[in-house]
Amino acid sequence: MAEPTTKSPSQVPVGVDPSRPSIARVYGGFLGSKDVYEVDRQVMERISTAVPEAVDIARGNRGFLNRACRFLARQTDIAQYIDCGSGLPTAENTHQIVQRVNEQARVVYIDNDPVVLAHGRALLEENEYVGMISADIFEPSQVLEHAVVRKQIDFTEPVVLLHVGTMHHLTGDGGAAVMREYIDALPSGSYVVFSHFFDPEVPELTAVAKRIEGILVNGPMGAGQFRTRDEVMEMLDGLELIKPNPLSEPGLAVCGQWWPDGPELKPLSAAAQCIVGAVGRKP
Ligand code: SAM
Repeated sequence: MAEPTTKSPSQVPVGVDPSRPSIARVYGGFLGSKDVYEVDRQVMERISTAVPEAVDIARGNRGFLNRACRFLARQTDIAQYIDCGSGLPTAENTHQIVQRVNEQARVVYIDNDPVVLAHGRALLEENEYVGMISADIFEPSQVLEHAVVRKQIDFTEPVVLLHVGTMHHLTGDGGAAVMREYIDALPSGSYVVFSHFFDPEVPELTAVAKRIEGILVNGPMGAGQFRTRDEVMEMLDGLELIKPNPLSEPGLAVCGQWWPDGPELKPLSAAAQCIVGAVGRKP
């Protein structure tokens, strides 16, 4: 892929700089991680003040990731996973979910945040089937040609590629080309697990999305775009999306409504409706 002329803010290498908030730590903070600095807490507070239920976006997203991994581990024979932008380890991570079904399932985690890399490597030290690498996930060749990916992943067999809660951190309209490069590299029968901040194009929900986007894009993190259904679908071109629940047509769903574990006793908050997920198979 051609070198982009300007880099998205999240492509600028992240150092452990306590004066710069990190996407991974802010997101992790919403999920309950204690690895947050004052500067991250300030971003979290700004978001929660603007949209008190914003935490539902992080929870909905992580719940989707966990259910999608469980589904693929149980219902396919695929035993190799590439998890792009894996984030800080939380209670349930991709390798823990899929290795519960197949203890030899291989997982390569990719991130560019030094705190994620340090925690990830510490957690994985004794797991020979799991690797953690540093690369720019918006430069697919950095991931796909990385020596650890080439060693752990057999590209003649189906693979699960995760891009969950990541592509909204790429500014501009290059997202479809990035995903195209990943999808092209996958063998037939592979799956993609994908989620993205969502502008539902319903005035009162769009207003919620825009409040959060304003804080992320105009603030020190500089990235976090809520995209419409058409814009998200463009990134999934070439995939056969599966049904997101028994009564829906194949396609995208609000993360909290993608094969939920059970009935929702309370209606989803407006914020929870501002993140969508999909699982697609490469024919
Ligand atoms: N995938 C996890 C999940 O859904 O629970 C974490 C999502 S978190 C919102 C986004 C992650 O992408 C962060 O850990 C961040 O460090 C990582 N990230 C953002 N831009 C990146 C880049 N250019 N290269 C590698 N990782 C990046």
